[in-house]
Amino acid sequence: MEIKNIVVSFPHPDDESFGTAGLIYESNQKNIPVTYLCGTLGEMGRNMGIPPIANRESLADIRKKELKDACEHLGIDYQLLGYRDKAMEFENKTQMAEHIKSILEEIKPSHVVTHYPGHGVHPDHNAQGAATIEAVRLMEPDKRPVVWAAAISHNYIEELGNPDVVIDAEKNFEFKMDAIMQHKSQAEGMLEKMEEPSEDIMIKELKERLGKEEFYIWHFNE
Ligand SMILES: [Zn+2]
Repeated sequence: MEIKNIVVSFPHPDDESFGTAGLIYESNQKNIPVTYLCGTLGEMGRNMGIPPIANRESLADIRKKELKDACEHLGIDYQLLGYRDKAMEFENKTQMAEHIKSILEEIKPSHVVTHYPGHGVHPDHNAQGAATIEAVRLMEPDKRPVVWAAAISHNYIEELGNPDVVIDAEKNFEFKMDAIMQHKSQAEGMLEKMEEPSEDIMIKELKERLGKEEFYIWHFNE
């Protein structure tokens, strides 16, 4: 199916940049609008910046601003879903699916990108992925957008086989890194932890980790 507009549904400010900046770059080239539905403000994150620029209270505000800056850089719209960070798995699943469905019915995307349930790296990823897929399942079959599920667990290729869609984000890697770097409170911690001996080696390592964006087309069995 032709891509007309895309909704990306992930739980944290920065998931959109890590997971779909390459896809967004290509969509921009083709004038395909993208909207990010961001589940939480990532306010329970352990990274507070280096040196710490936040405390628990201010982290939500800081990450809200970083998300705004990242989405400006990416050239996309975003909506906050307002859930609590690290607590999405405890939400009522049907209500969350209905909530997301109501937004999808307004935006009417041709494609929805979300995490592959069971193949996120955080319970929030799995919870929002499952709720987003349920939201699409609740729609009339002929009105459903195509779902691209992003698997980011360590063993997903073993378990799921080769992905259906692979975006080469390495081609436009600077665009992706600039988006990630808008999330200053998170990105600096990540770069610090890598402890690479030189910038060249670090970029090579980052390209290996983030250079491909892979998705599985979700099949609804009915
Ligand atoms: Zn995340």
